[in-house]
Amino acid sequence: MIIHKNFIDGKWVKSSSGKTFESINPATGKTIGCFQSGNERDVNNAVLVAETAFKKWSDVPAPKRGEILFHAAHLLRKEKERLAQLVTKEMGKVVYEARGDVQEAIDITEYMAGEGRRLFGHTTKSELRDKFAMTIKRPVGVCGLISPWNFPIAIPAWKIMPALICGNTVVFKPASDAPLSAIEFVKILIKAGVPKGVLNLITGPGSTVGMPIVKHKKIPCISFTGSRETGETILKEAGVKKIGLELGGKNGIIIMDDADLNLAIDGVLWGAFGTTGQRCTATSRAMVHRKVKRKFERKLVDRTKKLRVDNGLKSSTDVGPLINLSAVEKTHMYVDIGRFEGAKLLCGGERPKGKGFFYKPTIFTNVTSDMRIAKEEIFGPVLSIIEIKNLDEAIDIMNGIEYGLSSAIYTKNMKNAFNAIDRIETGLTYVNSSTIGSEVHLPFGGVKKTGSTREAGIEGINEFSETKTVYFDYSGRLQKAQIDVVR
Ligand code: NAD
Repeated sequence: MIIHKNFIDGKWVKSSSGKTFESINPATGKTIGCFQSGNERDVNNAVLVAETAFKKWSDVPAPKRGEILFHAAHLLRKEKERLAQLVTKEMGKVVYEARGDVQEAIDITEYMAGEGRRLFGHTTKSELRDKFAMTIKRPVGVCGLISPWNFPIAIPAWKIMPALICGNTVVFKPASDAPLSAIEFVKILIKAGVPKGVLNLITGPGSTVGMPIVKHKKIPCISFTGSRETGETILKEAGVKKIGLELGGKNGIIIMDDADLNLAIDGVLWGAFGTTGQRCTATSRAMVHRKVKRKFERKLVDRTKKLRVDNGLKSSTDVGPLINLSAVEKTHMYVDIGRFEGAKLLCGGERPKGKGFFYKPTIFTNVTSDMRIAKEEIFGPVLSIIEIKNLDEAIDIMNGIEYGLSSAIYTKNMKNAFNAIDRIETGLTYVNSSTIGSEVHLPFGGVKKTGSTREAGIEGINEFSETKTVYFDYSGRLQKAQIDVVR
C-alpha cells in the first residue's frame, strides 16, 4: 500500500509522530491509501517555513501570483477526469457530481487568478483640503486552512486560491476521510509553480493537527469549514485572530400552491439526495402548501423510489454511499428519532443490503417544526415534509432554527418571491431552483449558527486580506480631522 506523506518546505516528509492512518472507499470498504497522522511538531515546522516564505511571496506582484494560478487552472482542467474518479473513490459522490467538484475548483482558481489584476481598494474624498484618502489590501500572513471531506477538491480551492492571490502563505489540513484528493490537488499547485514553503499540507486528526493550527500564535488567520460543534470549539480556542467559519445548515424549500410542482420536485430531489444529502446546502426540509401537499408527496415518493443507490463510479447510479459507518449510524438514529417523534415515514429509513455505507433516500411527512428532524443537521439523505397554510407560516418555520445557510421558494407569484428574499434569514435564497448550486463569482456563506463568513466572489478576498486605510496629506501643514473646519 502507498504511504503518502506531508508536504512541508517543498518536500514530501513523514510525520514526526511516526504514526499513520488509512482512508477507505465508502462504497467498497477497500483501502485508498495510508497517510501521515501529523502532530504539533509537524505544524510548528510548517509554520516556521511558511513564515519565512511569506516575506518573499507577499512581495511577488499579485498579477504574477495570478499567472501561477492560471497555470494551476490549466493543469486542473487537464486532470479533471482523473481527479473526479479519485473523489468518487475516496468520498463516494457520484462521478458526474465529482466532476462538478473539480470544475468548481477550476472556476475559483481562474476567478482568483484574475483577482491578481484587481484586489481593489477604494478611494474617497477627504473632509480636508489637500488630503487624499483610500484603502488598500494587504495580506494577513500565514493562513491555517482546515477543510471537510464533502467537497475534497472544491473547498480547499475556495480557501487556498484567495489566500495565495492575496499574498499569504498556507498551512493546510484536509479532512481524514478524503486526504488523497487534497494531496493530488496540492501536487498540481506545486507543478503550477507555487514556490516552496508557500503551501504546506499536513494530514491527521483535528485534535493533533487542526487544534495546534488553530492555537498557533504565528498563524493570524484561520479559515475553517466543517461542523458547528468544531467551529464553536475553534472560536473558543483560537484567541484573537481573523477567523472564517463556514458551518452546518438545515436548509429548506418552500413550495407554494401556485408552484410548478414538477420543477419543485426536481429541485427537492436534487437538493435532498444529491451528494447523498451530505452538502452543507442540502435540502432537508420541504415546507409544502396544504393545497398541493398530497399531490407533491405522491409524485416525490414515486420519483424517490426510482433512485438507484450504488457505487458512484457506475454511470447508472443516482445516489452514492455516505462517508463512513458513523454517518450511517447517525442517519439511522435520526430516522428512529423521527419515528419516535410521530412523523410518518413515506419511504427509505433503512440500509440497502450488501457492502458499503449506503442508506436509502428517506422521506418523512407530517413533520412539525418542533421535531428534532426539522431542526438539526442530519447530513444524510433524509427529507422532512412540513405542511404550511401560507407564506408567513413557511417563513416563520424557515427562520425558526439556529442555522441560516440556504433556502429556496417555488412560486409563480413575484410578490411571494420577493417577500421570501427579504424575510428569510439565510445567506443564500434561490427562487424556482434548489438550495444547492452556488457559483464561484458570487459570495457564499450563512448567518446565525452557520457562521458569518463569505467565501468566493469579491467578498472572498476579505477573508484572506486586511484592509488598510491610507490618508495622504499634501497640504504641508498639520490638518486636524473633525477640528479644522473647511469653509
Ligand atoms: P468536522 O467539523 O468534523 O471536520 C472538519 C475539519 O475539522 C476536518 O478536517 C477535521 O479533521 C477538523 N477538526 C475536527 N476537530 C477539530 C478540532 N478540534 N480543531 C481543529 N480542527 C478540527 O466536519 P466534517 O464532518 O468534516 O464536515 C461536515 C460538516 O461540514 C457539516 O456540518 C457541513 O454542514 C459542514 N460544511 C459546511 C460548509 C459551508 O460552507 N458552510 C461546506 C461543507 C461542509
